[in-house]
Order: sequence, then structure tokens, then C-alpha cells
Amino acid sequence: MIPAPMIAAFNPPRRTLLGPGPSDVYPQVLAAQSKPTVGHLDPLFVAMMDELKQLLQYAFQTKNEMTLAISAPGSAGMEACFVNLVEPGEKVIVCRNGVFGERMRQNVERCGGIAVTVDNAWGEPVDPEAVAQALTQHPDARFLAFVHAETSTGALSDAKTLCALAKQHNCLSIVDAVTSLGGVELRVDDWGIDAIYSGSQKCLSCVPGLSPVSFSPAAVAKITQRKTPVQSWFLDQSLVMSYWSGGAKRAYHHTAPVNALYALHEALRIVAAEGLEQAWARHQAMHQELRAGLEQLDIQFVVAEPYRLPQLNAIYIPAGVDDAMTRSSLLQQFNLEIGAGLGALAGKAWRIGLMGYGARRENIALCLQALQQLQR
Ligand code: PLP
Repeated sequence: MIPAPMIAAFNPPRRTLLGPGPSDVYPQVLAAQSKPTVGHLDPLFVAMMDELKQLLQYAFQTKNEMTLAISAPGSAGMEACFVNLVEPGEKVIVCRNGVFGERMRQNVERCGGIAVTVDNAWGEPVDPEAVAQALTQHPDARFLAFVHAETSTGALSDAKTLCALAKQHNCLSIVDAVTSLGGVELRVDDWGIDAIYSGSQKCLSCVPGLSPVSFSPAAVAKITQRKTPVQSWFLDQSLVMSYWSGGAKRAYHHTAPVNALYALHEALRIVAAEGLEQAWARHQAMHQELRAGLEQLDIQFVVAEPYRLPQLNAIYIPAGVDDAMTRSSLLQQFNLEIGAGLGALAGKAWRIGLMGYGARRENIALCLQALQQLQR
């Protein structure tokens, strides 16, 4: 017998999470998650799932029937979009301006697709002209894939224009909205987005581990007409839908993360109560407040002003400041988490997230005060 380990209960401290996600979870959401677990086919739970779908449709601004939450994090939402849509040999134009565009490319290749990349420098948005050129040069492309809000750099791309270009060239659009959903304007139906995925842990301020997704009727038709079965059983949306669609008809697919779905239901109720447009405006107002304070500390942004994400502020680490030591001091002395730079920005930039419940005046004051104190 391996002896039983004697381990104390885990008691996490109450941090202020101003990194790239997870963001601080609303107290009501944490409370919702600790309600009693019921069976995942319990009629009351199934009725809650119907409401959850309605709330997701509101958050995405879509009437798409195939709108649900994948029982796994944002990366699984990304994978669900690619494995369901892209068949071997199909060409995908993939825009890369940070870490997550590159991850999309890897997904395409793992599906046996052909990725044609359109590159922009880190910190820049995706360039619609370069995309138009690639679409013209590759008339056989079936999809255009891009990241709406690049969390690795803090750059916002023009999803409306990019999706219109995809339509003009008979491509379906695949959009990463992990960091954008709930934080900046996003209109799935009006902009003609075909497949979109997000994450529960950013501007929705829910617990991590769920990925809201939505597929347009054109995307559903593509999935239905596949010549080859989806190589992932778990992420095959035609199977998952038998669980998510239509109340009493629900059939077992996998055991839903019941309590996490209570949490998402509550987080989306909070978004609906605030109103999406008000939430977008709040993120922008808080970003402006942070920006004013950072400018006083002489701290520079990585991204040019018109493309800055309000919910993810990438800033250059001031000269002479030790990256790891400062972030560790913020955590130890102020219980405050900010994000390190990723990839090409590692060691050069910090990422300050103002997401969902985190996008509040007192958090900005804490962050500015802490940075100022550590710079002395
Ligand atoms: N896409 C973007 C833009 C992200 O920011 C992230 C996570 O930070 C992901 C995808 C992957 O999401 P997850 O970490 O929840 O798997």
C-alpha cells in the first residue's frame, strides 16, 4: 500500500487578478457554483441549460441554434471549430499577429488542412488588405481564421471587415473571441461570423474551464456535409448537439460539468443585467482611466491607440525595472497579479487585464499605486 498522504485543505488567498485571465470571478458566480449538484439530465437542470443557451445567444448577439458551452477551456473551443469544419486537404487562410493565431495554424495542420498564413507584427492588428490579397491569391480557400482580441499583444482586429471579406470570397470565418466576448463590441449575426469560440474566464468573469461556441447555419451545413467523420469523438458537434438541443429530448453525451454551468448561467445573467453595450462602455472607460495613470508614470503601450484592447493593456516594462521581481513583489506585497509578456514580448512587456468584474475603479487605483511604489 502507498500510505495515505496527510495534506491540509487548500486555502487560496484573495488576489486581485489583473492579468490576461483568469479574471476575478463575481462573488455571486462563486456562490452559484457551490449550490447542490443535480443530475445532468435532471429536468430542472435541463431547463437551466435552455436558459443558458438563450444567455449565450445574447452574449454572442446571435440566433444561431448551435450555440453552447464546450465542457473544457478556450483551447477546446478553438479545437472544436477546427476539427468540425476543416477536412483534410482544405485550405485555410490563417492570420497571425500573436500567440493564438499561430495556435490556430497548428490546429489547421493537425486537421490535415493546408494553412496559408497572413502575418502581422506583434502588437499590430490583422491587416484587411493583406487578407484580401491572400483570399484573391487563393480562390480555393474555404476558411478565414483570425483572433479578434490577441491576448498576447493587446491588439484588436476589425472582425466586421474581415468577416465581410471572407463572405466576398466564399469562405467561412472562424473567429477567436476568447478575450473579446463581453469586453468589446462583438455581433456574430450582424458581422456574419460562421464559427466562434470564447472562454468563461476572461470578460465573463466566470470560473475557468468552459468555452462558449456558436456555429452559423452555413457552418452547420458544412459540418453536416462532411465526407469524413470528425476525428475527435468528444468535440464532434453533431454528437454534442444531441445533449444541448431541445429540452426533454436531451440525450447523454458526456457528464456535463453541472456546477461550472451554474456558474456560467450566473455570470451571463450578470452580463445581461448590465447590458452588453454598457459592459463594452465600462471596459473602455476603465481602460482610459488606467491609461491616464500609466501615462503619468511614463509607461508606454505596446499597441497603437486605435487598436488597443481596453480589457488587455500591454505595456513596455520601464527601463531598469526587473520583470520577474516586480511581478513577484506585486503578488507578495499587494496580492495583485499582472501578466508577464508572452512569446516575442516575454521580458519586454507586462499585460494588465481589466476584464469583467476586474474592470473596476478600485482595481485601477490599486495597480497604479502598487506600480508607483515599486518604481521608487
Ligand atoms: N485564444 C486566446 C485569444 C486566448 O487568450 C486564450 C487563453 O488565454 C486561448 C485562446 C486559450 O484559452 P484557454 O487557456 O482557456 O484554453
